[in-house]
Amino acid sequence: MSKVLVIGCGGVANVAIRKCCQVSGVFTELCIASRTKAKCDVLAAELAGQTATKITTARVDADKVEELIALIQSYQPDLVMNIALPYQDLTIMEACLACGVNYMDTANYEPEDTTDPAWRAVYEKRCKEQGFSAYFDYSWQWAYRKRFEDAGLTALLGCGFDPGVTQAYCAWAKKHEFDTIDTIDILDCNGGDHGYAFATNFNPEVNLREVSAPGSYWEDGRWVEVPAMSIKREYDFDQVGRKEMYLLHHEEIESLAKNIPEARRIRFFMTFGQSYLDHMRCLEDVGMLSTVPVEFEGRQIVPIQFLKALLPDPASLGPRTHGKTNIGCIFTGKKDGKNKTWSIYNVCDHQECYREVKSQAISYTTGVPAMCGALMLLTGQWAAPGVRTVEEFDPDPFLEALDRYGLPRRVNRAPALVDG
Ligand code: NDP
Repeated sequence: MSKVLVIGCGGVANVAIRKCCQVSGVFTELCIASRTKAKCDVLAAELAGQTATKITTARVDADKVEELIALIQSYQPDLVMNIALPYQDLTIMEACLACGVNYMDTANYEPEDTTDPAWRAVYEKRCKEQGFSAYFDYSWQWAYRKRFEDAGLTALLGCGFDPGVTQAYCAWAKKHEFDTIDTIDILDCNGGDHGYAFATNFNPEVNLREVSAPGSYWEDGRWVEVPAMSIKREYDFDQVGRKEMYLLHHEEIESLAKNIPEARRIRFFMTFGQSYLDHMRCLEDVGMLSTVPVEFEGRQIVPIQFLKALLPDPASLGPRTHGKTNIGCIFTGKKDGKNKTWSIYNVCDHQECYREVKSQAISYTTGVPAMCGALMLLTGQWAAPGVRTVEEFDPDPFLEALDRYGLPRRVNRAPALVDG
């Protein structure tokens, strides 16, 4: 019996909410709150009569702590699921602390305005100290650790697929498969085709910022940063086939480097088609990926936000996307004194997702882990105050929940290695 406040009602939230409604014995009451209440009302009306979960809706601007506090105080939830954008992570964490409620999200904090001088001063110092220049990093949210611990509350960070399930795969490998882990390669393959020359599978602004940033990886106790898309490999993905993939900076590398300190190297690769890369390079060359406002006909416009308005809404890709995703990890290390290579991954079919929850597989593979993470917190299977990432918890009940609710794992005991 629990009450959950979901903030955001976009592509990922739609899946998470529909999945919560399939587990109404635990998610007895849900409040869907977002900037555009009309979207929450449409979803609530569609789900009414299909689920025993009691659904209400609300409007909230999650950039404003006082609005969040008022909503949380009036609804009194057991958990706040932040499935809005990474820009709102800190305001929602503040509100949860003020109200004494557990918190979770699916992506780590980054500011909407990367020109803000106060933020830039901290960012530039951090770039020099840490050795990577991505706009997003865990330091902002880890700074809340003591306050959550002292309040006896849990903040679960990054509980989507990657970050999220990939860290549970690492925790599983460490617990069950290896005595020591030497290398971790996280591979994210989307073999889906939506028929557009260019579209992003989740929020375009967040997605394009991520993939146009320099790549970086963890090796021998330090970050190695390389120009965007400069490290390319080919890999033969089960049920998808051979794909080209590129090394990116990704947030889970940062927490895994701390929580699996023996790992000598941790990298993240994502597949991209040539059309996507050509469009992205061209948009970058003309300045359309910039987050710095420009003046146009007397008003300030942020180029990447204008581009977002032109691109297809990721939520509209569901009916037209065919093919599969394959996301997982390859590990090398030692077991019982012997060298071992092992991989674990999930394969998800875009059209099957659409039939079940009216969404493509990218939102599905993020929304289902968000629901399963919430389930772990609400049922007390994951209980540890503080600000935590997925690999800090027992992977067993979480992976069992994923198997059951739509993202079953597969294991390959003799995978090919990324570098041959
Ligand atoms: P969408 O853009 O589809 O949805 C975002 C939602 O947040 C919208 O409903 C939007 O409202 C709402 N929102 C934005 N700003 C505010 C605000 N100030 N106050 C209240 N609501 C607000 O994004 P996605 O669903 O694609 O992505 C959701 C999250 O999931 C993102 O953080 C993304 O980075 C993350 N993600 C994580 C992945 C993982 O594997 N871990 C993979 C993919 C995504 P409105 O309708 O008014 O715009």
